[in-house]
This record gives sequence, C-alpha cells and structure tokens, in this order.
Amino acid sequence: MSRKITRSVCPYDCPDACGLLIEVVDGKAVKVAGDPDHPFTRSTLCPKMNRYQDTVHSPLRLTRPLLRGGEKGTGQFHPISWEEAIDQIVNHWQGIIKRSGAEAILPYSYAGTMGLIQRNAGHPFFYRMGASRLERTICSPAKEAGWQTVMGNTPAPHPDEVAESDLVILWGINAVATNIHFLHGVKKARRKGAAVWLIDTYKTLTSSVVDQTYIVRPGSDGSLALGLMHLLVRNGLIDNDFLANYVQGFEELKEKILPDFPPEKVSRLTGLSPETLESMAKAYGRAKNPFIRLGSGLSRYGNGAMTIRTIVCLPALVGAYGKRGAGCFTGTSTAEAFAMGKVFQEDFMKGKTRIVNMNRIGWALNEIKDPAIQSLYVYSSNPAAVAPDQNQVLKGLAREDLFTVVHERFLTDTARYADIVLPATSSLEQSDLYRSYGTYCIQRAKPVIPPVGESKPNWDVFCLLARAMGFDEPFFRQTADDLIDHLFSLPAPMRNGIDQKAFAAGKAVEIPLPSDARIRFRTPSGKVEILNPKQSHSLPLYIPPYGGDEPFYLMAAPSFYALNSTFRERGDLRRKERGMLLKMNPADAEGKGLREGDPVIAFNRLGEVSFLLRVTPDVPQGVVVAEGIWWLEHSPGPRSVNALTSQRLTDQAHGSTFYDNTVDVRPLQRDF
Ligand code: SF4
Repeated sequence: MSRKITRSVCPYDCPDACGLLIEVVDGKAVKVAGDPDHPFTRSTLCPKMNRYQDTVHSPLRLTRPLLRGGEKGTGQFHPISWEEAIDQIVNHWQGIIKRSGAEAILPYSYAGTMGLIQRNAGHPFFYRMGASRLERTICSPAKEAGWQTVMGNTPAPHPDEVAESDLVILWGINAVATNIHFLHGVKKARRKGAAVWLIDTYKTLTSSVVDQTYIVRPGSDGSLALGLMHLLVRNGLIDNDFLANYVQGFEELKEKILPDFPPEKVSRLTGLSPETLESMAKAYGRAKNPFIRLGSGLSRYGNGAMTIRTIVCLPALVGAYGKRGAGCFTGTSTAEAFAMGKVFQEDFMKGKTRIVNMNRIGWALNEIKDPAIQSLYVYSSNPAAVAPDQNQVLKGLAREDLFTVVHERFLTDTARYADIVLPATSSLEQSDLYRSYGTYCIQRAKPVIPPVGESKPNWDVFCLLARAMGFDEPFFRQTADDLIDHLFSLPAPMRNGIDQKAFAAGKAVEIPLPSDARIRFRTPSGKVEILNPKQSHSLPLYIPPYGGDEPFYLMAAPSFYALNSTFRERGDLRRKERGMLLKMNPADAEGKGLREGDPVIAFNRLGEVSFLLRVTPDVPQGVVVAEGIWWLEHSPGPRSVNALTSQRLTDQAHGSTFYDNTVDVRPLQRDF
C-alpha cells in the first residue's frame, strides 16, 4: 500500500483560495485537510471542501466521452472513444465554419476552476479559430469598476490588517458562507475590543458573528453611504488634513451632492431610522481604524457600479485610507504577478471578432443572427443553471440545430443538453497555477492522483482539438507545466521578494505589498478621486436599482453548502440544506395565507419556480430569499432560481443583476 500527503489548492470561485493537504492511498484521495502552513487557510476548510475526496471519487463522475442518444435535456447518452468525440466535434465545426464562418461558434466558460492555466485554456484556441468571443462578466465587474473609479489601481490592504481595526463593517457580504477565513482577522479584532457590524438585506449566517446587524432595502446601499457622509460632515467628523492632501473632489461632493441626503430622506430609502443613521455615522466617524469589507452581491444591481463607487468614497472622509487596519477591502488584484498575455494569446486572433455577453446567453442563443450561434462549447461552467433567465437559456440549449459540447465532471443541467459530453478532470488530477482575489497568495499545484477514468484537463483537450483542427502553432504542443514554467521564467516586479524555494516546493507564498501603498494612490491624479472627470457622472450620487412590479425583492443569495451550482452532486451537502427553500417574513407569509413548509411558487414575468417555504423573521418584509443554485434534477419543480432573474446588465461593465429582481409568491396548487 502506498500512502502520501501532498499539497494542492482549492480550485473554486472563492476569495480564500485555500491550501489543501491531500492524503493519497494507492492513487486515491482519501482525506483532504486545510494546510497549516498556508498563511490564510491556517488548517481549516469550509464544509464544502472538508470531504472533497467525495466529489473527486464520486460514483457520479463522468469517466468516458458520451454521445447524445435521446432528446436534448433528457440525459440519454452512450459512450464513445476520445478519437471519435474529437473527430465528431472537429467535423461539425469545420462544416459550420465553411457554411457560416467561425463566429457561429461560441465558447462559454467561467470560474469552475480558478487555476490560471486550466481556466483560460480555451482562449488561445478560440482566438485562433476566429470564434465569437465571450464577455465574461457574470461575477462582479461592476464592483471592480466602482473601486477603480475612485481608487484606480491602488492595491487593497492586506486582509489580515482587519485584526488592527476597532470598527469592522461587513457590508453586503455573508462571510460565513463566502469568505470564512477572513473572519479569523475579524475575530481577532473583536477580541481586542473592536465592534463588528453587518450591513445586508437580510440576516444571514454572518449576523451570528457580529455585534450589530443593519438591514437595508435592496439596492439602497449607495444612499446609505451618502447619508453617512452627510452626517460625518454635519457632525464635524471628517479628517480635513487627509482630505486636503490626498483626496480630489471632496468640496464638490460636499456642495453639490451631500445636501440632498439628510437622514430623513436616507431613512426612507434604506429603511433605517434617522436615529440609527446618526449613531452609525458617529461610531464610524469616531473610530480610529474603521475597516469596510465589501461583498460582491451589492454590485449585482442595475446601480451596482455606482453603489460601490459611493461606498468606496466613505473611508476617504475620515482619512481611513491613510492608516493600517482601516480603509476598504473589495478584493485583491494580483493580475500583474504573471504575464497572462502569454496564456490568453490574443495575437492568435486574425481580426476582432464578435463579442457575446455571457449574462445574455439566453438572448444570444435565441436571437442573434448573421451568423446565428450554431455551436456552443461549454467548459468550467453550467449556464443552464447559473445564467440568468433560465427559460430563455434552456430554450436556446434545446435547439436541434445547435451543436453543443460540454466538458464536465458531472452530468449537470447543461451537460444534459449536450450533443457530446467530454469527461473532465478535477483539480487534483491536473497541473495549475493559482492566485487569489481575497489574499495576496500564489501557489502552484501538480496532479496528486491520476485522472479518474478517461477524464482530461481543459488544457489537454484544447491541445487535442487544436491538432485536429490543423492549428500548427508550437503553443498548442506544450504541456500545462511547460506554460507554468515559462510564466515563472518571465520577470514580474510584483513577484519580487517572494520565497522562490517555497513556491517551487508547492507551498503558498505571499506577494509583498508596496510599502507606500497607503498614501500613493494609483489614480491619474495620485489622489483618491471622489471627483472623477472621466465619468459621465463626475461625482458619486444615488441611482435607484431596476426593481420591478412584483411585491417582493428576490435575494438570489449564496448558500453555505454549495458554490453557485458546484457541489450539487453531493447528497450529504444537499440534505443539510433541507430542500430548495424560499425564506419569507412571518407577516408576509400571513398576508399570503402561507405557512412554514408549504410548497409555493415564486413567479414574475420571466418564469415561475417551486420552493418549500421557510418562514423566518431573519428576512424583512418585502423581501424573499432563495439561497444557492440547485440542479434541476434536485429541484421541487421543473425550474431553479435563475428562471426568475433577468438578463439586464449593471450600470457599468456589463455585469449581472442577479439581486435586482422582484417576484410574487403563491401556494402551489396540487392536483388531487
Ligand atoms: S471554497 Fe473557499 S473556503 Fe472553502 S476550501 Fe475552497 S477556498 Fe477555502
């Protein structure tokens, strides 16, 4: 018997990017633990990953290429060889290219794995082919846009600095579910006497680890920030020296915008009382080191970028950006750590090709012409479940004239609609290079077990397809490890000072932050830009969200036991959620004549979805909450939550608006 413990990295779309220790016995992963040497993981994993071996060696893993044998969506397939699969795909594509051009082919992928190589492996291939390009904006581009408008490319503080704060504000983030390791620093701060607040649209699990929870109306967070700034000015709680030396546009904000946001008006917008607003502003203005951890959900509204921009201005008024343990943390950017152009290979594109926004895939599959999309290649994503406007997405995927290939580990909702399914490796079976968007760690991972069945990594499949398509660039002849070695051989100032030996040994290493990061703002003016003349609105202001006609705002929020639609193959995790629930306030339930446990239908102009009702005071009146994205096969009805979310985009950066939808609710009428 052979037994070995090897380092790896959690590949999922989570800011923590945990380090893993994998115990392998005779080629099988038998135990997964948090790496005690990882600077952020510190031995602990979230409940999703504690038994990652059950995902990796699940009996539901796809192990052979499959060819569709029944109607689309029914999941009827029979096994074929890899040679046959590649032949069929290439023959279909060559026919489409001859008839309609390569833009009739569309890749669809996102962050099913965060590894830089496997995640982006399709870019060079599809650029070389001349396919339509996918605008990958499903997550939080509006958040980035909001931060950049004020702070440019200024790096976020080190996340552990939160431990030095005396007032921590978790704003729009259910950190217990989505950023659990950040709470290590929050707990440290709390032990030293810091107050911890949660600002959110309902009481999430995170409200159990804070001192105070403030519930605001969906999409009103920007007005809250403006109202707090109004009160900071009115109460003389601003840092005039910092504003004079390091901030552009405070006087204009003070004169032109803030007078419009007195507490009475902000109370009407947010639902917080004027007295609460006064006490929040005083506590914030008097804190020595107030630290805001901003989530992503509040950027997924029609006003998302402006909301973030406005909140990001708040710390400037009290000089928090000049201090350790203070300021605003939206996420880290380590984009300059590696020359990613060498992975993307945009030069392979002969001319600029059509761009299709991934949030509008439902529209694109059904409406785009000249040429219509005739083939979809899906990898590291599950659009049938995770893309908005599920009815439109499924209608498009059901088209008989659409040739769909899905490269996956499981028979997901999307894979069920494929013509050909290719079995994919898990992160433990492939090489990759990871960086994090919640820490400054980078880490290299090598395979720790052989591929399960005949599964292959994204990288290897695109190399096979490239050869079969006759793409003779040497780029497609290298291995993933060759490319990682090459990236690492190229100099990048951001990596200066890292522990090279530890990195080569597969340990997580931290990129050092520049020593002057706190006062050298990487903006055109060199200052925090409350006033940004390049924007159509040169000053932050309040834009209402889209909203809708139905009586309840729908919070399509993250689950503690899943990550988007990932981990849904795991019955143990699904059972802990006790079904696909819709949470509703007791007064609203009473008004609708509904009771705990009732089967209900949430509906709007886009569709209807069955849930089990959970009646709870954790949700305010006028809001309903559906946590997690369920696969259709486990849903109580024929649709899951994204049948209720729209394809509308954010105010900037073409992001998704998953939180900006309304629904009505009725009891499910059972046929007897
Ligand atoms: S999902 Fe996030 S918290 Fe959980 S193990 Fe992975 S990186 Fe860590």
